[in-house]
Amino acid sequence: MLDWPLYLGLLTALAIGFLLGRSKLGDSESTSSSELDQNYFTGLNYLLNEQPDKAVDAFVQALEVNSDTLETHLALGNLLRRRGEVDKAVRIHQNLLARPGLSLEQVHRAQYELALDYVKSGLFDRAEELLKLLVKKEGPYKIDGLKQLLEIYQDEKEWLLGLDVLKKLSGTRFSRHYEKWSPIKAHFFCELAESCLSEGDFAGASEYLQKALVSDRNSVRALILQGQIDIYTGSAAKGLQRLQKVAGAYEDYTAEVLPHILNVYRKQSGLGDCIQYLMSLNKRVHNPDVFVAIADLIAKDRGSLAAAEFVTAEAARSPTVVGLQRLLDYYISFSEGKAYEYLSSLKKVMDNMVVAQSNYQCSSCGFNARSLHWLCPSCKTWGSFKFKKAVFIGEG
Ligand SMILES: [Zn+2]
Repeated sequence: MLDWPLYLGLLTALAIGFLLGRSKLGDSESTSSSELDQNYFTGLNYLLNEQPDKAVDAFVQALEVNSDTLETHLALGNLLRRRGEVDKAVRIHQNLLARPGLSLEQVHRAQYELALDYVKSGLFDRAEELLKLLVKKEGPYKIDGLKQLLEIYQDEKEWLLGLDVLKKLSGTRFSRHYEKWSPIKAHFFCELAESCLSEGDFAGASEYLQKALVSDRNSVRALILQGQIDIYTGSAAKGLQRLQKVAGAYEDYTAEVLPHILNVYRKQSGLGDCIQYLMSLNKRVHNPDVFVAIADLIAKDRGSLAAAEFVTAEAARSPTVVGLQRLLDYYISFSEGKAYEYLSSLKKVMDNMVVAQSNYQCSSCGFNARSLHWLCPSCKTWGSFKFKKAVFIGEG
């Protein structure tokens, strides 16, 4: 089947090459115009016979590389890469680099484009090699090259190498780029801390988390991880303090830290203290998990009727699907016969609604997910996930 955009791109490139070649020949007939015609028509013939591979070769032969035609080569290479024809894009960019007479800036540009081809085809080693050469030189592709290297190291989970690149991108503390890259640096340190944690190395993890907080003193992720380490290693009061700070000040992450906070209260304090803390938190943050936790504790402390009264009052203040779901649980526990049957059916519908809901959304690309991702799987933005307020009825 004909791939029309690609065919038109190749055809346009051939036509431009043909016209430029002809105009360049001009008065001088030192190069044979019939040779140019022949290459052009050979390329056209391949296109018409649906042989784009050979058409690309004909194009490369027909179109001399010089400052007039460089843009055409690059545009075609770009088009081929975007359409997934990476092998052909590589051929075009390698052909460019093999030709003498390009300026240094043109060589850098072709190298950068070739590196993008390698990234697209998953040949990260080759891309890395090329980009490392490119970023050593001052020029317009230094920053773009560093950004590409960063993406490679991020995909490969090479966090230390990524931190070296981030250091170059962000410059010194007084550089204007410093603020932009600091939160990402903190995420890289947190990734390293998580690797240490997976091997049981709490001290190593804490060292990396300290560095994360130096890069970004508001790194919620570092606070959460350090709080969990504190609790696990016997400094529960310190850990609780950190996690409570997150729960109260960073509403998007309240649901993440709440289970850990409840665990500490469960082990160290009475139900009363825990309910008192959650009641005060519930006034500050807008998260259904908080009042559901309160309802559960009230049910444990004073029974289902008291819990139902609390949830009813809360549902009037801020109605949520989760709140209504919990209210139905209590009503079911009080009912019998037909009422029990009807309420149970209604509860099943509500449960399905809650399961179908996503709790988080990327503020950068709108990607929805049930659980929190620190790096958006769709647009690769760090720390962009926000808790979805849409779980509250009427807030869409
Ligand atoms: Zn995203």
